[in-house]
Amino acid sequence: MPLLKVENISAGYGQERVVDALSFHINRGEIVSLLGPSGCGKTTALRAIAGFEPVIDGQILIAGNLASAPGVTVPPERRSIGMVFQDYALFPHLTISENIAFGLKKMPAVDRKVQVEHLLDATGLRQMGDRYPHELSGGQQQRVALARALAPRPTLLLMDEPFSNLDIELRERLSTEVRDLLKAEGISGILVTHDQHEAFAVSDKVGVMRDGRILQWDTPYNLYHEPDSRFVADFIGQGRFIPGIVRSPETFETELGLLRGNRCCTEAVGEKVEILIRPDDLVPDEQGAIEAEVKDKAFKGAEILYTLELPTGTRLLSLFPSHHDHHLGDTVRVRMEAEHLICFPGRD
Ligand code: ADP
Ligand code: MG
Repeated sequence: MPLLKVENISAGYGQERVVDALSFHINRGEIVSLLGPSGCGKTTALRAIAGFEPVIDGQILIAGNLASAPGVTVPPERRSIGMVFQDYALFPHLTISENIAFGLKKMPAVDRKVQVEHLLDATGLRQMGDRYPHELSGGQQQRVALARALAPRPTLLLMDEPFSNLDIELRERLSTEVRDLLKAEGISGILVTHDQHEAFAVSDKVGVMRDGRILQWDTPYNLYHEPDSRFVADFIGQGRFIPGIVRSPETFETELGLLRGNRCCTEAVGEKVEILIRPDDLVPDEQGAIEAEVKDKAFKGAEILYTLELPTGTRLLSLFPSHHDHHLGDTVRVRMEAEHLICFPGRD
């Protein structure tokens, strides 16, 4: 039985539905993300799952028990969930240990102490128990918030943009730590974020949201390589589209020559399509058939992301190993090396 079943829920404010027939489920131990642009309804969906917002339609089942339906909202404290928000919301007048112990009032004092020590350890805060929140860095405070949410051993942890206030490096490190910690504790999680890297670093499955709906529910790998809509293709990763004409279900004629893909195109032979080209689909090759001019470059450390212009004026992105250091205006040669070619109906 799934741990959480969200079935066709709608929620909103006044007459406006900002979550619209949303469905997904989570198995025990799974970590998923709801990923989408600001305003698409992620927080509202999470608050409905937490029991802070009623649903107008549909239902939410936790471990098989009805938690939400129109007219029914089991309160948050009876859902066995933990929550972590963007602002750490720690109690400033309590020490770190007291913050973590906050939800453990019913536990015998001895067990409470063991659990607090365990979480201080697990979140890398062993020496910090007696300090106060203002004596900690942002990253450390967010670890305390995490420890506090995990202390009562929820079966499900809900996280709303928990890392957005942290700098990039810390964000990446904490995302991985959170994933490892949840997996080690056997706790399922839902992360809500507008940041694809964060979602990918943490999740087994990701739901890409737009206007209150999930457009695609899939693994990070499939979202990147097999987006099934143009919105997902645009929102996830980088890439550009080039026009083509379908010559067979797997081949397209384009200005880059005849391209072959491994996924059938549903458009009929002869139809116009647009084909997604990712930066890793175009690789540098001195013998390559494609000649292009360097229009822009962005140094990424191990790689350089070049914006290349084809003779027709079409611009594509290409990732070169960092020692291929070209100047703007240089001519370079590349070839296509794509396993997954994704096409969408052409735009006239
Ligand atoms: P996200 O978390 O994806 O940014 P939200 O769920 O916060 O999206 O918001 C979705 C939509 O609902 C937005 O248009 C927002 O303005 C609106 N909204 C959010 N909270 C409220 C509220 N308390 N009252 C009225 N409208 C709200
Ligand atoms: Mg939000």
